[in-house]
Amino acid sequence: MGGDELSFIHNAFENNWVAPVGDNVDGFEQDLSNGTGSEHVAVVTSGTAAIHLGLILLGVKGGDVVICQSFTFSATANPISYLNAEPVFVDSEKDTWNMCPDALEEAVRDQLAKGRNVKAIVPVHLYGMPANMDRIMDIARRYCIPVLEDAAEALGSHINGKKCGTFGTCGVLSFNGNKIITTSGGGALLSDDEELVRKAKYLATQARDPAPHYQHSEIGYNYRMSNIVAGIGRGQMRVLDDRIRQRRANYEFYRGLLGSLDGITFQPEPQGYFTNRWLTTILIDPEKVGLTRENLRLALAAENIESRPVWKPMHQQPVFRDAPYYGNGISCKLFEQGLCLPSGSNLSGKDRERIAGVLHETILCNV
Ligand SMILES: *Cc1c(COP(=O)(O)O)cnc(C)c1O
Repeated sequence: MGGDELSFIHNAFENNWVAPVGDNVDGFEQDLSNGTGSEHVAVVTSGTAAIHLGLILLGVKGGDVVICQSFTFSATANPISYLNAEPVFVDSEKDTWNMCPDALEEAVRDQLAKGRNVKAIVPVHLYGMPANMDRIMDIARRYCIPVLEDAAEALGSHINGKKCGTFGTCGVLSFNGNKIITTSGGGALLSDDEELVRKAKYLATQARDPAPHYQHSEIGYNYRMSNIVAGIGRGQMRVLDDRIRQRRANYEFYRGLLGSLDGITFQPEPQGYFTNRWLTTILIDPEKVGLTRENLRLALAAENIESRPVWKPMHQQPVFRDAPYYGNGISCKLFEQGLCLPSGSNLSGKDRERIAGVLHETILCNV
């Protein structure tokens, strides 16, 4: 925590706004609007809820197709299934590790040729790295398909100053406990479309019609963020820039240790791109390094240091085994070779020494 969170919570208690409405909800939405440049913001209970609402508001219905980045966390794709729509997965490109524009275009063409209703495209800014939004938006415009950007991991990331989450028709943020800033749990839907965000707030509060009694013309959800949780968010926004600095310093630390080794690849940051470096991830080529990413993970675990394989692509998940996939295996290779290194904002000098010790014993002494 940054330090100011409790005072925002305290205000909520003093004013007795312990509810999913109040000054902190409004204030956090304003902070997020200022921080991202998105004109309108709705804060909700999770990033997953924001994706669910976003897809509903883009008109996704049962039987429709949603084209989704395969290399991601399952929360990106699950809401497609909540709506009984069909996820169609697209591979990653080497430059950003995110949605490959060529595979996307192939997927769009092929699905349209099959007579499917392609209702949305969902790229993800994984580990904070912006996806190739210039090309993705160009394809989306040419085929008139709206884009929902999953920027759950990418608060503060941008391309030439334009923030992740503001390229598509709508964008999603997450404030889950593991993200770069956290409210314990929470999310936001961003859009420049005022009507879309107004409707998101309405659906998130049980879709109540404007009547003195309780009247409903649509199915609603209980997705609005609590005023207490939003208070944490207001405090966290004050330390976002520090957190990004700390995360990027983690990356520089690992880069300094391993950057010159043949067979170790870092997630590149293309010209004009700025990543918040939420997690530092590396690829380990076992042929060149003499060990697999699993060997390194276990060596770190033996010293009580947690690291994790990168996300397993959705098209390789048992639950999505029947979903179509377009690409040539780049995300599979990322999964086989990729490891997320310890990347907390509070990684201390002592922590770094311990990690460096294991990296020296396992990798640096071998090459
Ligand atoms: C965390 C995350 C989500 C979901 O956010 P929650 O707030 O945990 O529901 C969605 N997509 C990606 C890529 C994420 O990392």
